[in-house]
Amino acid sequence: MYRWLIVISLVVSTFAWGELPKIVPDRGQTAFEQAVKRAGTDLKLMCLAAHPDDEDGATLAYFGLGKGISTTFCLANWGEGGQNEIGPELYEQLALIRSRETMAAARLIGADVLCMNLKDFGYSKTQEETIRKWGSKNMLRKMVFVIRKVQPDVIVTNHRENEGHGHHQALAALLPEAVKLAAMSDKFPDQIKRGLWPWKVSRVYQRRNLPYLPNGENFDVEVPVGTYDKLRGVTYAQIAGAALQCHRSQGTWFQADKLAPSTYFKQILPVDGKPASGLLDGLEKEHSLARGYFPVAGIKQDVLEKAGYKKCQKALAKAVNRMDGSRKDVGKALADALKALRKTRAKIQQDMSDAMEAKSPGVSVYRAAIQYLYTREVDISNALGKCSGLHVSASLDDPTLVRRQEFTTTINLANRGAGSIKNATAKMLLPYGWRVIESGPAAVGEIAVGDSASLQFKSRVYSESPIYGEIENLYKKTTPPTTPVRVRVTATAFNVDFTNTIEVPAQLLGKLSVLPQPHVIYVAPPQQGGRSLTFHLRAVNNSHETTNCRFTLTFPSTLRKTALEVSPSSREFKLQPDGSWAWKVGLKIPADMRKGEYTAFAIVESDKGDTAACEMKVVVLDATLPASLKVGVLPSYDDTLANSLASLGASVEQLQADRLSFRDLSQFDSIFVDIRAYLAHKNLPQHNKALLDYARSGGNLVVMYHKTAEWKSEYAPYPLELGRDRVSVEESEVRVQMPLHPLMTWPNQLHDEDWKGWIQERGLYFPSKADDHYSRLLILNDPEEPPLTTGYLVAEVGEGSYIYTSLVWYRQLRNGHEGAYRALANMAAYPRRERK
Ligand SMILES: [Zn+2]
Repeated sequence: MYRWLIVISLVVSTFAWGELPKIVPDRGQTAFEQAVKRAGTDLKLMCLAAHPDDEDGATLAYFGLGKGISTTFCLANWGEGGQNEIGPELYEQLALIRSRETMAAARLIGADVLCMNLKDFGYSKTQEETIRKWGSKNMLRKMVFVIRKVQPDVIVTNHRENEGHGHHQALAALLPEAVKLAAMSDKFPDQIKRGLWPWKVSRVYQRRNLPYLPNGENFDVEVPVGTYDKLRGVTYAQIAGAALQCHRSQGTWFQADKLAPSTYFKQILPVDGKPASGLLDGLEKEHSLARGYFPVAGIKQDVLEKAGYKKCQKALAKAVNRMDGSRKDVGKALADALKALRKTRAKIQQDMSDAMEAKSPGVSVYRAAIQYLYTREVDISNALGKCSGLHVSASLDDPTLVRRQEFTTTINLANRGAGSIKNATAKMLLPYGWRVIESGPAAVGEIAVGDSASLQFKSRVYSESPIYGEIENLYKKTTPPTTPVRVRVTATAFNVDFTNTIEVPAQLLGKLSVLPQPHVIYVAPPQQGGRSLTFHLRAVNNSHETTNCRFTLTFPSTLRKTALEVSPSSREFKLQPDGSWAWKVGLKIPADMRKGEYTAFAIVESDKGDTAACEMKVVVLDATLPASLKVGVLPSYDDTLANSLASLGASVEQLQADRLSFRDLSQFDSIFVDIRAYLAHKNLPQHNKALLDYARSGGNLVVMYHKTAEWKSEYAPYPLELGRDRVSVEESEVRVQMPLHPLMTWPNQLHDEDWKGWIQERGLYFPSKADDHYSRLLILNDPEEPPLTTGYLVAEVGEGSYIYTSLVWYRQLRNGHEGAYRALANMAAYPRRERK
């Protein structure tokens, strides 16, 4: 995901800015100038990127903030198949984190975000694999959809069809075709029926990383992203650097202050013709929409020009030119632009009626022109608002809403400008079925300079409003989830009415919710007497009313017959307004409980008829571990490893890295060092000797995968260097080289089945050099790649043993993969094996 960045940072080490400046959201003069610049152009730039942090922030900031161009980054997915460097969340939860990180980065760059929700199935080496999994038609449909939705004049991408992640390659490979199809009205006609227009992208550019251009390759345009923004006092590359820091779950962006001072691009489309000298050069003048060319069904008409749009454009140009002078001049010019725009629209509306009457085939062009003018009006209105000094803010008395709830919205209108603002009115924009039930005055006659006014509306949430969880919300649409509550303010300044719409932070929740911790417990069948498991449950009251609740636990009938004991299985409790209540449910698993999945449902019902339910699952695995095995775990980002060992029946203690040298480690049969622990615990290297001594004196030290840069060969008892090889196809064949080795046979005999059904990938950062002391247990590789023999290594060390494995066991364990549990049991039990 960030390879290009690292490459660049190495090259430009002489071009360092030092500490990254803190970037703050625009306000005051900066916000004003930004809004005027935005109103002054209708060009749009889209960056197509596979994952969060693949966006070309510097280029987007240069054009978006510097030139006022509307910018969007469009992602394939939220990068949920990646690793999480700040916490235990993976998959959907990680998507949620990354969506927030991406939105934060986008706010700094001033860009919009769209996501195509092409599922992140993990690292992919080839475009073929990615295109097979995503489906080329599905990819094209989604790419065409975002192009038609955004209507970009220019698309840039960092991705190339022959390098890097398969997701990157696949997007780059299909982009030219998607651009072609987006402009054709007979392709994906359902999108056209739903209100989108065919769209012709003027140019497509692909990023080139200087000076690493292969022989003979060149670039067409350079973007000087190292230019200082005169308002913000930082360069666009610095803003992009600060934005990269928002992607915290992807690691620390220690090179973010060294982004290169220029970005370089090769023009990919159009293929023929001389490339322009600048990314957007010439487009301002020949721009399709402003010139009245609508790529709708191939019809060219000077609709806008004929209706007098030039007047609006002239006024906008004047507003931009006067930005350094008085706001009054800018305001007047914007007011003229708005008036001219409305006149143009009225004329086109008339033309459209005439055309409809005459059954002329060009009606859709008029419609497109009207839609275009509405979006321009929003930009000009925003600029007028900023120019007048009108500041609008709004908040709810309670931002977490439930069905039927009544809530009050307070809207503050402040005049921070130099002239009076008149006839300010506000309107609530609410979802279907929600109602305003009470309001004070909805208008203010005049807000004098320096004054403010506030308006209040009481509204009610519709009783049937659909309620989605945060994650459902994220995957439902291409646009990231926003609030259900918006406010529209209309006011008069510079003798013209203008409208500003703002979003009010709010979230709609169910009245009751109940959550189990954990959701699933995996367990090996207990050997004798059974085993007790505990689920923690928590019920939350999202409403402001005291609620009497009753909790019941239900099982499918087959399960109840087994001797599973549950306590308590029902209970009554009271939830205070906005309160919560937590309790434990104990399950006893009998010794003879069969392998399989057992589900119980916790149901909470209130005396007011609201209910919430959650699922708790127990999965009994076919895996065994010798009795009374004691295991130490040095965790890194989550509890998967410790929980999994406990599930197998081991007695598990979590170790602290900085205490290792001061502890008697000999009490542990095995010690596990979790993935990337040498990065997660800064002081682990200095206590590593204690771990190696433990192994030498008879212990069994098991180390999970690490990344190349965070590992040193001397951490292992014999030389072990890590490389960059991965096996990313999770179905790829695993060839067992030492089938009789205890790690393959005892106490669980591993079968072919145990290597099937893996998720995401097999392993990563395989050792590139391993000393001869290591036995190589497995051979595996991606299709058509050389075999890798270092994925699972074991060596005898003094009286004990050392295991290093690059396989992604933790993903399989989290997913309840039985084979992974069986293999893990063998690792933990290794010191108890029969020795010859
Ligand atoms: Zn990526």
